[in-house]
Amino acid sequence: MKPSRKCSYSEHFHNFFRSFHCRKLSFTSNTTNPGTPPVPGKANWVYTEATQVSTLRELLQSCARNRAATGGKACHGQIVRVGLQADTLISNMLINMYSKCGLVECARNVFDEMPVRSLISWNTMIGSCTQNGDGGESLGLFVCMQREGARFSEFTISGVLCACAAKCAVLECKQLHAFALKAAMDSNMFVATALLGVYAKSSFIEDASRIFECMPERSAVTWSSMIAAYVQNDLYEEALVLFQRAQTIGLENNQFSMSSVVSACANLAALIEGSQMHAVILKSGLESNIFVASSLIELYAKCGIIREAYTVFSSVEEKNVVLWNAMISGFSKHACCIEAMISFEKMQQMGICPNEITYVSVLSVCGHMGLVEKGWRYFDMMRKEHNLSPNVLHYSCMADVLGRAGLICEARHLLERMPFDATASMWGSLLSSCRIHGNTEIAEVAARHLFEIEPNNAGNHVLLSNTYAATKKWDEVARTRKLLKDSEAKKERGKSWIEVKNKVHIFMVGERSHPRIAKIYSRLEDLLEEMKKLDYKVCTEYDLHDVEEIRKQELLRHHSEKLALTFGLMSLPSCAPIRIMKNLRICGDCHTFMKLASKITAREIIIRDTNRFHHFQNGVCSCGDFW
Ligand code: ZN
Ligand code: ZN
Repeated sequence: MKPSRKCSYSEHFHNFFRSFHCRKLSFTSNTTNPGTPPVPGKANWVYTEATQVSTLRELLQSCARNRAATGGKACHGQIVRVGLQADTLISNMLINMYSKCGLVECARNVFDEMPVRSLISWNTMIGSCTQNGDGGESLGLFVCMQREGARFSEFTISGVLCACAAKCAVLECKQLHAFALKAAMDSNMFVATALLGVYAKSSFIEDASRIFECMPERSAVTWSSMIAAYVQNDLYEEALVLFQRAQTIGLENNQFSMSSVVSACANLAALIEGSQMHAVILKSGLESNIFVASSLIELYAKCGIIREAYTVFSSVEEKNVVLWNAMISGFSKHACCIEAMISFEKMQQMGICPNEITYVSVLSVCGHMGLVEKGWRYFDMMRKEHNLSPNVLHYSCMADVLGRAGLICEARHLLERMPFDATASMWGSLLSSCRIHGNTEIAEVAARHLFEIEPNNAGNHVLLSNTYAATKKWDEVARTRKLLKDSEAKKERGKSWIEVKNKVHIFMVGERSHPRIAKIYSRLEDLLEEMKKLDYKVCTEYDLHDVEEIRKQELLRHHSEKLALTFGLMSLPSCAPIRIMKNLRICGDCHTFMKLASKITAREIIIRDTNRFHHFQNGVCSCGDFW
């Protein structure tokens, strides 16, 4: 016996019209009035109805599956022609087909014309609006449904909840939650998973977590949703703990949970855990999934191992724009400018269209390389060749391109002219450019904006003071210091962390409690002595504390990243690069210190601060002293 096989869409369509043609012939030969359409209820209709209805249903399914709007519309025409438009099941299928093809209005027309609606009709229509981005309409339909007294199921509630998630409509979600409680549906897996999704997306992570913990049973989707929820809300450690729990109950890994958990490792810069996840991924055969692969690229790039990121990238055969973006962004963050540019060209050669995210990376590379003309060219190309309108990030990158190249006035004008309000980070970047190029006049303008947007961020005072220090305006440095003292702004305490033998060691500025702290301080003193031979002096102007010069020197000498580095030198094998994370921007003194340390110790030092990566090797930093 021949094995049965599913017809392709085109085969279906071809067969349908062929059979319809034959049937039409048979009508003609059987009716008394040849050529007139068949009348439901008459003998000839009864004969053909069953076969015709089943063919139409099959065809509608096929059109829905293949998102074939033209074929679907032809089917609809046929349905009307043979008078089947009042059939509830057929109408439901039409709604589904139109919704899959993105034609919500057509779906809605069918829905509105239905003389009798089943529950499925409501659910399909609600789902259709949600999928096509009209969450408001979904909610409206649910209200209508209640007014008409139609019965709802757990699928209705979860469908409407998905609409709430899309709109982050937490108030409506809470009402639906109450509704589900009243109908005793709140612990249903579909409803609870959907509730969890809305709360997580609206940053009500505690509510999401409570729902998860109260669920009597959970599917793989529920587990992955909760892990993803933690990642979305920057609770990376919680995501890892939950993943461990999922492992202990033997839950099978899927691409959603794996990409979330790798992304959590990336954000924690937890290389060891991340590599373990990589092994799990290889074991589960998920390595070629685009989302898993791009989060692995993100992991290795964020942990400072760009080579490994590239290995993951190369191993995926079918690369889409998500994957290219992950790689180009990795290159760009590591100041591997040539590699980023080559990848940008190559992706286009492969027929992949760059999107907004690609352009952010490419423009930031132009900034690094000081390519003003090329930056403008890409900025225009976005609109003209790829029909993308530049968003706030693109303007920010472009301002950076200009600022870094010393075109401070142009950068300022771009920020003032653009169709959005400039963000704090944009003014901050302009202020950095002013420091590098010694433009105190525009630095003051940028600082004024910064003080207004972020009155409590002491880091901005530091940036301005550094600009004055760079131009040796010591009176102004003193004035900025006084301004900081009088303002409400509080300086966040510097904190760095380093992973050694599976353990994260955290160092605060002036750390006292680490078990090996005495040894660390003495080793640091030795290192500073060696640096003095290379003409290194502690630059106290980078410190804004209102204290004696001596105390200031001490504070600077004991900045957290210096302590973390010393601990790394003491504890890691001599060939291993030292990777440090920092909660604030690295200061100018630590930056010089790290450059010299990389030279004296012949070690690769990678520091990720709040702004960027600094890759120190043999006395130079990848940022080109711009941060
Ligand atoms: Zn420092
Ligand atoms: Zn640097």
